[in-house]
Amino acid sequence: MSTIEADLIAPLTDAEVQRIREDFPILRTEVNGHPLAYLDSGATSQRPLAVLDAERAFATGMNSAVHRGAHTLAAEATELFEDARASVARFVGADDDEIVWTSNATEAVNLVAYALSNASLGRGGAASESLRLGPGDEIVTTEMEHHANLIPWQELAARTGATLKVIPLDDQGALRLDAAAELITARTRLVAFTHVSNVLGVINPVAELVGLARKAGALVLLDACQSAPHLPLDVKALDVDFAVLSGHKMLGPTGIGALYGRRALLEIMPPFLTGGSMITTVTTTTAEYLPPPQRFEAGTQRVSQAIALAAAVDYLTAVGMPRIAAHEAAFGARLVDGLSAIDGVRVLGAGIDLPRVGLASFDVDGIHSHDLGQYLDDLGIAVRVGHHCAQPLHRRLGITSSTRASTYLYTTDAEVDAVIAGVAGAIDFFRRGA
Ligand code: PLP
Repeated sequence: MSTIEADLIAPLTDAEVQRIREDFPILRTEVNGHPLAYLDSGATSQRPLAVLDAERAFATGMNSAVHRGAHTLAAEATELFEDARASVARFVGADDDEIVWTSNATEAVNLVAYALSNASLGRGGAASESLRLGPGDEIVTTEMEHHANLIPWQELAARTGATLKVIPLDDQGALRLDAAAELITARTRLVAFTHVSNVLGVINPVAELVGLARKAGALVLLDACQSAPHLPLDVKALDVDFAVLSGHKMLGPTGIGALYGRRALLEIMPPFLTGGSMITTVTTTTAEYLPPPQRFEAGTQRVSQAIALAAAVDYLTAVGMPRIAAHEAAFGARLVDGLSAIDGVRVLGAGIDLPRVGLASFDVDGIHSHDLGQYLDDLGIAVRVGHHCAQPLHRRLGITSSTRASTYLYTTDAEVDAVIAGVAGAIDFFRRGA
C-alpha cells in the first residue's frame, strides 16, 4: 500500500476502537490507581479474547502432539496446526509451505544464518552448497537493526570468514541509501534489514533496498517484527526471500514466531535444529530429512501458540490491516508533533522524511529514561525504556537509552495525549526537584 493509498483509507472510528477494547480484558486493569494506558505494544502486544479462547479451547478440547498420533485428538490438533500455518501464510501473502514455525523472530533469523553456513555439510547437493558463505562473501545489514537482526550475522561472518558490512545512518537516523548503493556489490550474498525501525518507527524504503540487492544478485531477509502487526504485508509483492515475524507483537502469545522463506530456497536449505519430527528415515549413522517446512520444525511443536497466533491474524484481518495502519499513522504523527513541542524533548528520527507507524522514542534532556519510565508508570502509563535492543542506533544518535511509546489498534487518542502530558509533567517535576 502506498502512502497515498494509506491516506485515503478511513482510520478506525472512536466507537470501533471502544468495541475493540472490549475484546482485551487487560485494558480494563488499573495500575497505581490509574486506568492502564498501555503504550508498549512495540515490545509485546495484548491478546484479545479470541486468542485467549483459542488457546483454552485447544488445551481443554484437543491437547495432543501433532503429526504423530493415530488418535482423534492428535488428528484434530494436526489439522488445526496446519490450518494455522495457512492463516499466517495468507496474512503475509505466502504459500502455506513457505511458513516455518519458530519460537520467536530471533530463532527465525538464526535459522537462516545457520543455513548459510551449515550448507557446507554437503547433504543437499550442489544447490545447497551454493548457499554456503565463505571468505570474500559479504553480508550487508544496517546500523538501525534490533540485535536479533545483527548478532546472528556477526556470528555467521565469524563462522564462515565472510565480511559483515553495515549501512550507516545519517544524523537524523535515516538509512543512507547512497552508502547502501556502494556497500551492496557483486560480493554481497545477503542483505538483511528491518522494515520498520523498533526505535524510530519509520517505514524503511524496502523497494529501493530490494532493488539494490536484486541488482547485486543477493538474497534479502526482511525483519517484519514491527511491520507485520501494523501494516498490510505481502512478502511476494515486496519480493523478499525471507521475512521474520514475532507472534507476541501481533496479538499472539509468546513462544511463537514464524519464518517466511521462498520455497525454492527452503528446499535447498539444511535444517537448523535436528531431532524428532523432521525426518523420514534414520539409521544409527544417517538421517533423511522431510521437505520444508517440517525439515525446520524439530521436536514437539508449539501447537496451542500456533493456533492462537492464527486467531490473532484472523482478528487483525477482520478489523482490516489498512484501517489499522491508518489509525496508527495518525498516532505516529501525534506522538512526534506532541513530544517535539515540549522543551527539552528530542524525538529520535523526528526529521526523517518517511512514513511512520505509531511508535516514537525520545530523549529528555537531564532525565534518565528509567526515571521517566517510573514517573509515567506512577500515572498508569506503560512505556519502554532502555536501548530497545538497538545499541548501535542509540550510539549513532549520541545517547545510550531512550523512552519509547508505541501504539496498536486498541490505543486511543486520550492515551497518546496522556503520554505527552505525562512527559511534560515529568520534566516539570524533575526540574523542580533539581
Ligand atoms: N526485530 C525487531 C525489529 C524487534 O522489535 C524485535 C523485538 O523487539 C525482534 C526483532 C525480536 O523479536 P523476538 O524477541 O520475538 O525474537
